[in-house]
Amino acid sequence: MSNPAPFVSVVIPVYNEEENVALLYEGLKRSLADRGFGWELIFVNDGSTDNSVKVLADLAHKDTSVKYMVLTRNFGQQAALTAGMDYARGNYIVTMDCDLQDPPEIVPAMIEKAKEGYEVVFARRAFRDESFFKRATASLYYKLLEKFSDTEVYGNIGDFRLITRKVLKQLKGMREKSRYLRGMVAWLGFRHAVLDYDRPKRIHGTTGFSLLKMVRLGMSGILNFSLLPIRFGLVIGLLSIFSGTAFLAYITYDTFINNEVYQLYKWLSVITFVFIGFMFILIWILAEYVGQIYNESKNRPIYVVEQEENFDHEPEITYSEG
Ligand code: UDP
Ligand code: MG
Repeated sequence: MSNPAPFVSVVIPVYNEEENVALLYEGLKRSLADRGFGWELIFVNDGSTDNSVKVLADLAHKDTSVKYMVLTRNFGQQAALTAGMDYARGNYIVTMDCDLQDPPEIVPAMIEKAKEGYEVVFARRAFRDESFFKRATASLYYKLLEKFSDTEVYGNIGDFRLITRKVLKQLKGMREKSRYLRGMVAWLGFRHAVLDYDRPKRIHGTTGFSLLKMVRLGMSGILNFSLLPIRFGLVIGLLSIFSGTAFLAYITYDTFINNEVYQLYKWLSVITFVFIGFMFILIWILAEYVGQIYNESKNRPIYVVEQEENFDHEPEITYSEG
């Protein structure tokens, strides 16, 4: 794929971005088409309630490199990105926000990186010109995620990235409903590069991410990529058993050695402590089973092959797919 001008698909979710669509188009055109890249621009309207669709229609009418689809309602950014990627035909697939917070000028640099042989190029927000609250919550969240996640996910990386066709093919095989694309791409494990950029403020329109939507996206990051919440049960259970047992040992000692008399309810409450500990551990074990079921139901591939040499046949696997 050392073609000097690879075909680039840019996938953009659109949720109430009537003022941004044309600006982004101009920016991308300057960065891609004017530099000789073959390109297509795939807009996915995610249930906008403003004039976005009208603006998209006008644009698509003027330039056939612009393609757009309209989802029936608001499915969320991750679903919209998935829809766009399913239709993408490029060698390189770039996903980015519509609000110019992901600057189009970076895209050629991402393509350069891909040409060097990286299959995934993440753009990382080195500096965010955003509210203190958003910066603080984002940084705390990413720290937690980085620390506890089972696959390697980086902090401060959004959905501004480039993947090659090869990666897209694998990603398309991951049809889980609760999606956290940045983590899923990392999970696939292809060779990746990180490109830093300054994230500017949103100029037109308002954020489509209400606090609730952000919490939901954040939760799917944690739930999909770490078992941390599940393991709380184990920790609480152990603490409760240990402290319960310590108390029990203490009052037993006091009773038999010092002839202290403890009322029945005191004995009971200490014993209950120990039992509650066991219950927490049982709940944790149950949760691990549920976690397994959750994992299985995602139907992810078991492994991802990067390269095959001298095999002249497909792998021999008996599928029992319904
Ligand atoms: N978006 C979407 N559906 C939604 C919310 C947002 O498709 O329900 C799109 C939005 O149009 C933009 C991108 O996702 O292209 C990022 O959204 P936004 O800029 O509102 O998020 P923020 O930058 O505030 O995190
Ligand atoms: Mg934004």
